[in-house]
Amino acid sequence: MGKMLAGIKIALLGGDAREIILMQELVRLGAEVRVAGYPPLPELKDCLLFKEASNAVRQVDVLILPVPGADERGVIKGTLTGHTFRLNESWVDEVPPGTLVLVGVARPVLKKVAREKGWKLEETADRDEMAILNSVPTAEGAIMMALQEMPVTLHGSEAFVLGLGRTGLTLAHMLAGIGARVTVVDRGAADRARALALGWRAISFEELPTAIGWAQVVFNTVPAPVLTEEVLAAASPQCLIIDLASAPGGTDFAAAQKLGKRAVMAPGLPGKVAPQTAGEILARLYPRFILEGLERL
Ligand code: NAP
Repeated sequence: MGKMLAGIKIALLGGDAREIILMQELVRLGAEVRVAGYPPLPELKDCLLFKEASNAVRQVDVLILPVPGADERGVIKGTLTGHTFRLNESWVDEVPPGTLVLVGVARPVLKKVAREKGWKLEETADRDEMAILNSVPTAEGAIMMALQEMPVTLHGSEAFVLGLGRTGLTLAHMLAGIGARVTVVDRGAADRARALALGWRAISFEELPTAIGWAQVVFNTVPAPVLTEEVLAAASPQCLIIDLASAPGGTDFAAAQKLGKRAVMAPGLPGKVAPQTAGEILARLYPRFILEGLERL
């Protein structure tokens, strides 16, 4: 690949161990990497480290924000130093209009600032290649949570997977590999047919209230209200629900609490359970996203 990023100035603000792996790859590919919100680690010896965000972002071609972006108050976190960068601070004015800004997920507050400042904002987490690669640490993390919470093995358990998308498909394969009895719940007839062809049970959401009673664990990947009060009421008292879908998830958590059902949200699993793998995924994909975003491919 050579020095495919030579001559490109890239700033990174905040983040965690994942971004360190990414930064090393960006440097290897010839980029000038300017960083704020990181301690002076030996791994970052070839990056330019700044205390102030405004010095890091000045005159850059690309700004990379942490995968979760800014929170609902517009705060970007540097978890390794405890630094925070706010979207209402003056550094924002130093990011030139037209700058390519890469972030995993952008909440409305970041989208608004990007619009006002004329940044070229690209959300990466929902791109197929990123979502499919991240589905592996996500599924492993979900299985880990289930194993920690359940009094029985997943082998031989009745496991429901809601949504046969990128995460659901990987998770269903892993559960089947462990020996769980997998039921896929999906709104698409073709996806249900695929599940049947793979040897799993497959039902529609209309059938869920009558079927959920036999589930010992339910993994939701659908970012829409599918585990409603009616569905939850039909689940067994021992059933564990792990909601993987992005906030607010697909579970009526208030109803689950009222009904005494065990339901947990499980956000951000790749970065939590496999930061190195999650970093390697960023390192594999971001160089191409950068060249595409700068229209150099
Ligand atoms: P995806 O490929 O788009 O899959 C989503 C699934 O939900 C598809 O089967 C889709 O069905 C179904 N769906 C969407 N809206 C629906 C509705 N109203 N009713 C019924 N089914 C519906 O997404 P993904 O990449 O698998 O990600 C799934 C969710 O997990 C997202 O919210 C994502 O942000 C989140 N996520 C979480 C983690 C974590 O660590 N917890 C990690 C990665 C992703 P169709 O195909 O018919 O549209």
